[in-house]
Amino acid sequence: MKIVLQNLTKKFPNRNKKNRSEIIAVNDFTFEVPDGSLVGLLGPSGCGKSTTLNLICGLEKPSSGKIFFGEEDVTNLPPENRGVGMVFQNYALYPHLTVEQNILFPLQNLKGKEKLSKQEMQKRVQEAARLVQIEELMERRPGELSGGQQQRVAIARALVKMPRVLLLDEPLSNLDARLRLQTREEIRKIQRATGITTIFVTHDQEEAMSISDQIVVMKDGVIQQIGRPQEVYDHPDNLFVAKFLGTPPVNVFDGTVRSGVLYIGDDPVCPAPGIPDQEVTAGIRPEGFLLQEDGPFHCRLVGVEVMGRDISIVCTNSAARTGQIRAIVGASHAAGVTMPSGSDIRFSVKPEKAAIFSRESEERF
Ligand code: ATP
Repeated sequence: MKIVLQNLTKKFPNRNKKNRSEIIAVNDFTFEVPDGSLVGLLGPSGCGKSTTLNLICGLEKPSSGKIFFGEEDVTNLPPENRGVGMVFQNYALYPHLTVEQNILFPLQNLKGKEKLSKQEMQKRVQEAARLVQIEELMERRPGELSGGQQQRVAIARALVKMPRVLLLDEPLSNLDARLRLQTREEIRKIQRATGITTIFVTHDQEEAMSISDQIVVMKDGVIQQIGRPQEVYDHPDNLFVAKFLGTPPVNVFDGTVRSGVLYIGDDPVCPAPGIPDQEVTAGIRPEGFLLQEDGPFHCRLVGVEVMGRDISIVCTNSAARTGQIRAIVGASHAAGVTMPSGSDIRFSVKPEKAAIFSRESEERF
């Protein structure tokens, strides 16, 4: 089922005695999550991700705007009638109940029309456990499980009520790096298998990019960009989005456009067709540099970091905003970087990996 947010806004009162202006946690959100898709909400701490989820599941009431599940306006529906499954960062499993009892719990509370027979409940619990592959663990208590296993129990508990919508709020942040990787793949698989429209909140851009059909990048309660992960990475609408996506991060320079060419310092770095002459901000992705002896872009070598398949060439350039810049090239090129640190090193720049932004508005041309 698709989810539609229409001009959704949430304001909180400000308790700061010196500043009584309201906090706008979510500011005029309008977007649609297509039926059966997984959308990642992404942004720095405090940008309004959790508030957006809380509005969708009904734990918070919007100050204005509407929420639709399919064609149904659910804005004023209480959380228990929305058919939403939610998984939080702290899985909040009941420690004294077994895995099976934890998953069963939401079904035991169903009332009236929704009440299920014992057999139906058992069937649903088994089905949810099978989906997340924890059938072997049903008799254990949460304290006897690994973090990843607990996370799967929490997902099974959210799935057992057959929700129309699944909301995941930083579900992986308590897991170590390897388990995070594995669990995010599992979440993707489960989501595909069930086809439940899912919204996933994270501040980890790599995580969001790797499993989402679409990402929504947010800043200070305002949507910055919505799109397929690769599309947003390759075509960021503004400097914030460019800087937020990608590791190592995009290299940012003060630049100038003259006669349709981007200059960094005096170096003509790449074409800038259609952009009027002016001072600009340029972002070049680390993978956008090509080592080239007679390349147009001069930098000063600091050192080389070997990262297995690739090497990272660390250098400086007086126009770089970030101090040091990083160029990622294939490890086979490492042999070419034999000069001592402090030497002049030259690159050409792949135009498709360079983005040019207005110096003032920071919007992309
Ligand atoms: P994090 O990644 O740190 O969890 P977030 O993106 O989920 O952050 P929210 O928790 O949605 O951010 O908070 C958005 C803004 O709203 C923040 O400035 C926060 O301080 C504020 N806020 C959230 N809940 C309340 C509340 N109940 N009362 C007042 N302000 C709130």
